[in-house]
Amino acid sequence: MDLPVDEWKSYIFQKWSLLPKSIQDTISTADTLKDIFLHSSSLLQPEDETFLKSLASGYLVGKDPNAPPFYREEGNKKFQKKDYVGATVLYSKGISHARPHTADISLCYANRSAALFYMDEYEMCLKDITRAQMHGYPESLQPKVTLRKVECLVTLGRLQEAGQTIRDLESNFAAKPTVAAAQFQILQRNLCRLKMKVQERERLTATFPTTLTKIFEDMDLREVNEQIPCASSSVSLCMDPLRGRYLIATEDILPGELLLKEDAFVSVLNPGERPPLHQGLANKWDTRVTNGDLYCHRCLTHTLAMVPCDGCSYAKYCSHECMQQAWGLYHNRECPLGGLLLTLGIFCHVALRATLLARFEGASKVIRKLSSEISNKDMCSPESETPLRSDLGGESEENGNIVQTPVPGCDVNGKYENNYNAVFHLLPHTEHHSPEYKFLCALSVSALCRQLEAADSSKPDAAAPPILCSELSTWGVAMLKHMLQLQCNAQAITTIQQTGSEENNVTNSRQVRLATGIFPVVSLLNHSCSPNTSMSFVSTVATVRASEKIAKGQEILHCYGPHHSRMAVAERQQKLRAQYFFDCSCPVCQKEKHRATVGPRWEAFCCGRCGALLQGGDVLSCGGTSCMESVSRDHLISRVQDLQRQVGGAQKLLGNGQLEQAIQLLLGCRHDAENFLSPEHSVVGEMEDALAQAYAALGDWQKSAAHLQKSLQVVEAQHGPSSVEMGHELFKLAQLFFNGFAIPEALNTIERAEKVLLVHYGPCSDEIQELQKMKSCLLDSPPI
Ligand SMILES: [Zn+2]
Ligand SMILES: [Zn+2]
Ligand SMILES: [Zn+2]
Ligand SMILES: [Zn+2]
Repeated sequence: MDLPVDEWKSYIFQKWSLLPKSIQDTISTADTLKDIFLHSSSLLQPEDETFLKSLASGYLVGKDPNAPPFYREEGNKKFQKKDYVGATVLYSKGISHARPHTADISLCYANRSAALFYMDEYEMCLKDITRAQMHGYPESLQPKVTLRKVECLVTLGRLQEAGQTIRDLESNFAAKPTVAAAQFQILQRNLCRLKMKVQERERLTATFPTTLTKIFEDMDLREVNEQIPCASSSVSLCMDPLRGRYLIATEDILPGELLLKEDAFVSVLNPGERPPLHQGLANKWDTRVTNGDLYCHRCLTHTLAMVPCDGCSYAKYCSHECMQQAWGLYHNRECPLGGLLLTLGIFCHVALRATLLARFEGASKVIRKLSSEISNKDMCSPESETPLRSDLGGESEENGNIVQTPVPGCDVNGKYENNYNAVFHLLPHTEHHSPEYKFLCALSVSALCRQLEAADSSKPDAAAPPILCSELSTWGVAMLKHMLQLQCNAQAITTIQQTGSEENNVTNSRQVRLATGIFPVVSLLNHSCSPNTSMSFVSTVATVRASEKIAKGQEILHCYGPHHSRMAVAERQQKLRAQYFFDCSCPVCQKEKHRATVGPRWEAFCCGRCGALLQGGDVLSCGGTSCMESVSRDHLISRVQDLQRQVGGAQKLLGNGQLEQAIQLLLGCRHDAENFLSPEHSVVGEMEDALAQAYAALGDWQKSAAHLQKSLQVVEAQHGPSSVEMGHELFKLAQLFFNGFAIPEALNTIERAEKVLLVHYGPCSDEIQELQKMKSCLLDSPPI
C-alpha cells in the first residue's frame, strides 16, 4: 500500500541483485541523493517501463461505458432490499464510469437521489436531482424526480421554492396537453399533503430544545504562536543534538488543551486494499466498498453523494468545488496516471503530489538551490555526526540570498510554518535506508517522471506549461527525498468508523486509516511509548491535545504507533528501530526493560488451582505462597490461541444473527478462561464485549450492560482510565443504558464518557455531540 506492489518490488530487487558489484557500490556509496537518483535512473530500461505499464494496466481507473448499466442494476437490487447505503455506493460507482451528458450518468444520479431521499438526506438528494437534470434526464421521467424535489423542499421547510417548482411543473404540463388531467390531480394532492407536513414540522421545531445545538464552543488555540502559527502559545520549538527538533511546554498545560491544529501540507487518500482485477469478465466490475467510494479524494470528507472526475473513474469528490480545486492543484497531472500511481504505492503518490503542490510556492527555485547547494553536505545526511534524530543547520532562500537560519525549516525570522520549505527539511535518513530500497524508490520516481514527461509532450497545452521536462532530474531528486522522508514522517490520517448494526443500536467503533499525509509541524513531535498527547482528525486537519497534565518545560510527546498498552517492550523497540532508526528510552521502556519476566496484566496467566498470578519465563510457577503449581508457557499460549479462535467463531455467529449459539459458545469460553487467564486479560475483554453485543441484539439491556462493564475493566487495565479506548467503551455503555432507559446509570456513564472523550476529541466532535443529545433527551423525558 505505502510501497510499490510486490511484483514491481521483486522485479527491481532482482534487477539490483544482477547489477555488477561496481555499479552497486557506486550507488551505495553515493554522497548525495542527486547522485543516487542520476545513477539509478540511468539504469531504467524501456523493458522495465513496459513491465511497469503492464502492472498498471490491471487497475480499472478509466471510464468504462459498459459499467454504468451494470452498477445501476446492482444498485437497484440493493434498493429493493431497502439497503439504501449499499445502493448509493453502487450508483456512485456507475456515475464514476459514465461520460458526462449521457443517459447513463443522469439515470444513475436520479436513482441515487431516490436512495438519498429514503435516508432523509434531502440536501444531497436535491443536488443529485439537479445533476440528473443537468446531464439530460429524459423528459418523460421528469415529473417523478420533480415530485421528489418538491418533497425534499417541503421537508426542508423551503415552501416557496416548493410552490414554484409545482407551478413550473404545472405550466410544463399545460404546454403539453398530451398529459392526462389525472396527473394534475395527483400533483395537487401531493402538494396539499406536503403543505400539511411542513406545518407539522414547524410546530415540532418550535418545541425542540435548543440545548441540542452546540453547548459550548471549542476551546481554540490559547493565543497565536508567533514562532509556529498553527501551535498554541504554550509550546515552543527547541533543538539540541540529541533530540533534534522538538516541542516543549512553555507553561503548565491541562488535559484536553489544544496544542496543535495543522492542515496537512499534502495528503493522499488510501484507496483501500484493492488488487488489480484482471480475472475474467465475470467480476470485472468491483462491487466492494472501498475508502474511495466513501471519502472525498481531496478533503477526505465522508459523503454518499460523490461527484467523479470527468476524466477518470478513481478520483471522486464530495462536491464540484473540491473536484475543481483538486484539478487545479494536482489532479490535472495525476488524472491519466491512476494505474501507475496505484502500482507505485502511496509514498510515491504523496511524493509526486508534494512536488506538484510546491509549484504554487514558487518552490522550483527553492528546490534547485537547496538540492544543488545543500547536496554536498546537509541534504543527504545532516545527522551524520550525531546518530540520533537531529538536524542541525539549514538554509533558506530570501530575496535570492541564502541565509543561515538556526533551525532547519524555519524562515529568516525563525518562523516555522506548514509550507514546502518545512517539508523539504524533514529528514530523509538517507544513510539508514538499504541500497536496494533507495534503488527501488529512485527507479519508481524515475519511471513516474518519464510518464509525466510523456503525458506532457502528448498534449501540447499552452495553458499548462510542462513543469517537469526542463528540470526533470531536479524534481526527481525532490520526489526521491520525499519518498525517503515518508518512512519516518508519514502521518496516517485516521477516522473512527462505526460498525454497529441497525437493530441493536450499540455502535462499535474502530479506527481506520483513511489517508497518508505530511504535517511538518506534527512531525516536530518526538516519540514516547506513553505519550502525553492525543491526536485526532477532521477532514485533513490534525488536532493534537494534551492527554494529561504537562508541566512547564516538559517535552510534548506523541506515539508513533508502538504504544505500551498494545505492545511489549521488545516488540516496540524492534519496530521503532526498523522504521524510525532509534532506540526508545522513554520512561516506560526503561522501566519495562528491567522487569522482563512479569508481563502486563492484560497478558497475564493465573494459577488453575489457587487463582494467583503465574510468573516466570518458559516455565511459569504460581505466585501463591502455599501452591507449587507450575506450567509451561507454550502450553498456556496454545490455550489462549484456541480461545481466540473460538471467540472469532462466536463473532461470526453474531454477525449472522445466530445469537443464542454465539452466547453459548462465549459462555463456554469464559468458563475456560477463568481457569487460567487473569480477569483483566485482553481475550477475556473480547469475550465480555461480544457477550454484551449479543445481549444487546436480544434487547436484554441489563445483561448486556453487566458484560460491558466487565469489558470496561479490561480496557481500563490495559489502556488506562482516561484513554481514548476507555472513552469509546464508556460511550457504548452509555448507549446501552440509554436504550434500556436506565436513566441514572445512563446519565452517570454519559458524564464519564464525556469527560474522557473531551480530552481527546474536543467539544465539537461527533461523539460529544451524540452524548449531549442523549443527555438532553433523558433530562427532558418524564419521570417514570
Ligand atoms: Zn471534498
Ligand atoms: Zn481524473
Ligand atoms: Zn518507549
Ligand atoms: Zn496456585
